[in-house]
Amino acid sequence: MKGDLLKGSRCVVTGASRGIGKAIAEAFAKCGADVLITYVSNKAKADETVAEMEKYGVNAYSFRCDAGNEEDTKKLAGYIKEVFGSIDVLVNNAGAIGEEAPITQITSDEWDRIMRVDVKGVFLATKYLVPLFDKDRTGKIINISSELSVKGRANYTHYTAAKGAVNAMTRSLALELAPHILVNTVAPGPIETDMILQDMSSEWVEKEKNIPLGRLGSVTDISAVTVLLASKYGEFYCGQFISPNGGAVFI
Ligand code: NDP
Repeated sequence: MKGDLLKGSRCVVTGASRGIGKAIAEAFAKCGADVLITYVSNKAKADETVAEMEKYGVNAYSFRCDAGNEEDTKKLAGYIKEVFGSIDVLVNNAGAIGEEAPITQITSDEWDRIMRVDVKGVFLATKYLVPLFDKDRTGKIINISSELSVKGRANYTHYTAAKGAVNAMTRSLALELAPHILVNTVAPGPIETDMILQDMSSEWVEKEKNIPLGRLGSVTDISAVTVLLASKYGEFYCGQFISPNGGAVFI
């Protein structure tokens, strides 16, 4: 995907130093958008993403913002106002899966950590960035959930609950913000990123491939859908749940 599909759009993608967020940010830039990404700890990787985006001749920025931290998010909003003035697209992508543990062994601290990043992060970014949306254009918010929010996963009650909350937030926000801002969920199946390849055991990864399409998804399987939703071709989607998952949800 390239060209000027998103030319003139100012997009914000959270958690885009690596993985799915990076692919989304780069796909937006390739389609002509100016893009600001956030990261939490990996400045070098964020700088690399910015450099990749600049190759497409667009304006690209990065900003450190810990998802779920209110002060960071207020500062992010201030920085976005400074560089973009107003925005057209927000992708709430930053997320963490948490430690695998049966319910009796999930600690309160781990529960709170996952809820803070995956749920409060979406709440705060949306709360502070909605006022920055261009009043004269149709805006887009894309919340990255997970197919596990529908299917469930033993020993991941914290993560599946958090992503279930994101799905519900999408529906409420879609009703609240339409027709000015269209809010939708993209819920990936298993995708080849650090979250799977580094954070999970090799047995887990092999098991993840046991789906109708017989493979993990690639980050471009997800970025393609977000380009559609962010573009003028995505303007009849409102409150929807779109899940590129290789058939995983039927297992
Ligand atoms: P990765 O772990 O590969 O990358 C995570 C990205 O999010 C990094 O850029 C990281 O920044 C950033 N991040 C993590 N925690 C925070 C935080 N507290 N504040 C700000 N940024 C943060 O993850 P994926 O690319 O795989 O996942 C992206 C999204 O997709 C997540 O919401 C995830 O739940 C969802 N998802 C992923 C699936 C998969 O199979 N990979 C499947 C279904 C959903 P830094 O580099 O600075 O650490």
